[in-house]
Amino acid sequence: MKKVVILMCTCSGVCPSMEKIDFWELAERIRMELPHDYLVMHPRLCEENGEALMEDLLKPDAVYITPACAEKKQAKLLAEGFERAGVPMDDEHWVPVMMGMKDTGQVFDEIKSIVTRLESEIQ
Ligand code: SF4
Repeated sequence: MKKVVILMCTCSGVCPSMEKIDFWELAERIRMELPHDYLVMHPRLCEENGEALMEDLLKPDAVYITPACAEKKQAKLLAEGFERAGVPMDDEHWVPVMMGMKDTGQVFDEIKSIVTRLESEIQ
């Protein structure tokens, strides 16, 4: 069965547009309340260090939910990491979530609805 992985980018934790997000609370709520295989948090997925992680981590038999910056921005900034891993950045493998200008509860609810949809599709 396809794995569901949350790959969260905290944008170094000081992005003004994400100031209403408590990343630790969000991570723990996801871990405790949502069905998924595992969660990874990284401070800068679009830098070399993050791309190196993605190269090692990403597998074709998983779908990656990526809470991070705006969806279109992610499409550009995370492309190198997906490419290095050899995983296509399509609907089967990637579901972006924009965290900018949202609070912890809003982001959690969005991830929850995606996980719920994926669960019904995967089963
Ligand atoms: S991928 Fe987006 S959220 Fe993550 S560090 Fe880069 S700009 Fe920030």
